[in-house]
Amino acid sequence: MRITRVESRIQRSAFTYGAGAAGVGGNLHLRGMDTLLVRVETEDGRHGFGEGFGFNLVETTKEALDRLVAPACIGTDATDIAGLSLRLQRRFHNFGRSGPVIFALSGIDIALWDLAAQREGQPLHALLGGAARPRVEAYASLLRYGVAADVARNAAAAVARGYRRIKLHEIDLDCISAARAAIPADIPIMLDINCAWPSVAQAVAFGRAVAEMNIAWVEEPIWPPEDFDAIAQVRAAGHTPIAAGENIGAPEEFGRFIAAGALDVAQPSVTKIGGLTGLRQVAALARGVAVVPHSPYFGPGLLATLHWLAACEVAQPLEIYFAELEAAPYGRALDPDDGYVTVPVAPRLGLIPSW
Ligand SMILES: [Mg+2]
Repeated sequence: MRITRVESRIQRSAFTYGAGAAGVGGNLHLRGMDTLLVRVETEDGRHGFGEGFGFNLVETTKEALDRLVAPACIGTDATDIAGLSLRLQRRFHNFGRSGPVIFALSGIDIALWDLAAQREGQPLHALLGGAARPRVEAYASLLRYGVAADVARNAAAAVARGYRRIKLHEIDLDCISAARAAIPADIPIMLDINCAWPSVAQAVAFGRAVAEMNIAWVEEPIWPPEDFDAIAQVRAAGHTPIAAGENIGAPEEFGRFIAAGALDVAQPSVTKIGGLTGLRQVAALARGVAVVPHSPYFGPGLLATLHWLAACEVAQPLEIYFAELEAAPYGRALDPDDGYVTVPVAPRLGLIPSW
């Protein structure tokens, strides 16, 4: 079954996140919530949809897809997903083992899984081992506010909507304490540092300062994100569990990350790690380390992650970005209800984005 066409589109949506423009605009330079949709067509006229990591560099991923990756896919066999992934990785490895080319390749991979499930007439999770659960718990991943009152108000709002786990992207202790005080003590908080701390000593001091706050994990505690030995030293201090991995583009790197003793929680991102093929490779390497994917996006990448989590033996939560989109790729279909997201049972990814 040959691939005959590959197209991409950027879907941009205005959004609100429970605070003024200064927080996100100042910290993340977000103009909107962008989704890079990838559509792969096969010779039988079927289409599959995928997503490559976009965020605030969505045009760069689109260029990599349109100029490099898409032409290399035309005429290849859509049913040999792992084989195509490996050939594309080898062909373009001099553009880096992580970054826009791998993000584009991830979008192709997800679209090919959507096509595979379509040919089988099955929901995607059936191809991944079957749904162990009809719905998956979500955790609210709050954007960075940087203002204690905003953090506290939005953490409380997330709990009021039914979330039982909250992630903050804050590094300021006043902001973190404000959130802790605003929600019940038995609701765990994850702290995403986004590699802010420049030294092991600072990361360890931070871990010590938050250790008594019911912290489920501290995420990416240190710069650079691939300094596995330094992260292992932070973990060895023992103040909180450590999570990381969204910035790893090659599944094999996770093997080294885990072998370094750096991780309690591995966080491959399906739109960055080579799609479901890469995510499955990471899971096979995890050896007792929890795999809780990174998924702060809204399109086929989020949906593919949901199917993967539904089929996992051990239940783990789905990351849902805590923002209201004016026009999300799937409308409100993936909005959590009482803290859970329903797993689609229709064939393929189960939902089709507007195109
Ligand atoms: Mg993160």
